[in-house]
Amino acid sequence: MRKLGAETKTARYAMLIDLDRCNGCGACMVACAVENNVPPPQASATPRTGLNWLRVFRLKTGGRDAFIPVMCMQCEDETPCQSVCPQKAVEFDPVTGIVGQIPERCLGCRYCMAACPYQARVFNWRDPQWPAGMEKALNPRVSVRQRGTVEKCNFCHGRWQAALEKAAHDGEEGPVHYTPACAEACPAQAIRFGDLNDEEFAAACHEQGVFRLLDTLGTGPKVFYRTSRAEVREATRGFGEVRRG
Ligand code: SF4
Ligand code: SF4
Repeated sequence: MRKLGAETKTARYAMLIDLDRCNGCGACMVACAVENNVPPPQASATPRTGLNWLRVFRLKTGGRDAFIPVMCMQCEDETPCQSVCPQKAVEFDPVTGIVGQIPERCLGCRYCMAACPYQARVFNWRDPQWPAGMEKALNPRVSVRQRGTVEKCNFCHGRWQAALEKAAHDGEEGPVHYTPACAEACPAQAIRFGDLNDEEFAAACHEQGVFRLLDTLGTGPKVFYRTSRAEVREATRGFGEVRRG
């Protein structure tokens, strides 16, 4: 079996989301929740206390509305959430470039939530509850989080692990190829997942019309957006307003 380490080629996984294609259907949100064992909201949950790793927001543009899927941006440079965690419950994986969350280490202080400029993290105010029978359909590759812990998108790390094991079994060399659940589920093919070490993908992430949220903060997000509509680009500048919308 191929092990993580010197013989594993590194990747810098990233997403390129085409806002011209996104129609706000929310299929990505559903696929994300199913893949990652995110429980449905409990009766007392509010928009502030519910759990979501991925949310699709409506953008008011002055013309035709647009939609923007927002998840953890996988910050690369001095990752804000990682830098404040006293428990080392947030880890930047140099093999994948993925910012991971280790729920077993999280003590629930929520420093990371305060530090994240994208409000991409959610807190488990309660233990998870699933409708009767649904617990039998949980994804065995993803741990279930308990009350008092923080969680967030990790680019479907369980899928990466499965792809790594398959590659090792097949004796394949090079970085692992896989697709997160949101990108797979999107009927509009608005979400492209790739490796920034791949020249063609990296070039697509730097084409005209591509941008990142709160880019001037210098967090090095690895979620890129593109649009051909200047008004949509403009509407994303007030990111705080988008989040409250
Ligand atoms: S978007 Fe937030 S949760 Fe994700 S890596 Fe950046 S600071 Fe951390
Ligand atoms: S599944 Fe695709 S089209 Fe639907 S909301 Fe998500 S990104 Fe947009």
